[in-house]
Amino acid sequence: MWPEAVEARWRELSEEVFVGMKEWRIQHPKATFREIESALDERLGRVRARMLQDAALATAATDFGGRESERPSCPTCGARLEGRAAETRSLTVQHEQTVRLTRRYAECPACGAGLFPPGRGTGAGAGESRTEPV
Ligand SMILES: [Zn+2]
Repeated sequence: MWPEAVEARWRELSEEVFVGMKEWRIQHPKATFREIESALDERLGRVRARMLQDAALATAATDFGGRESERPSCPTCGARLEGRAAETRSLTVQHEQTVRLTRRYAECPACGAGLFPPGRGTGAGAGESRTEPV
């Protein structure tokens, strides 16, 4: 499921880029091509980071939702995992923008094993990879 709030926010952000860029250009009639490019990149960079964050988290809410049979199971004992407290990790992306990914931590009620779904490693050091599924 794709959250409607996300789509609305993206539209709003895009609009800010269009309007902001137009106003900037009017205020900087003598800007060089490079200056225009960097003004645009700065604005797009903010939208990019936000879209990246939202897109990465768009399905996170369903990790532990829905029916019990759809929840991930414990790799150790096979019991259904339960959601625990959220953990946030930060990534720095292009144009020095920070993306914060907050994910719930999963714990097995049967044997106590914990992990990030789906199949994420545990603890420190598991958070910086950009090649694994978020
Ligand atoms: Zn278990």
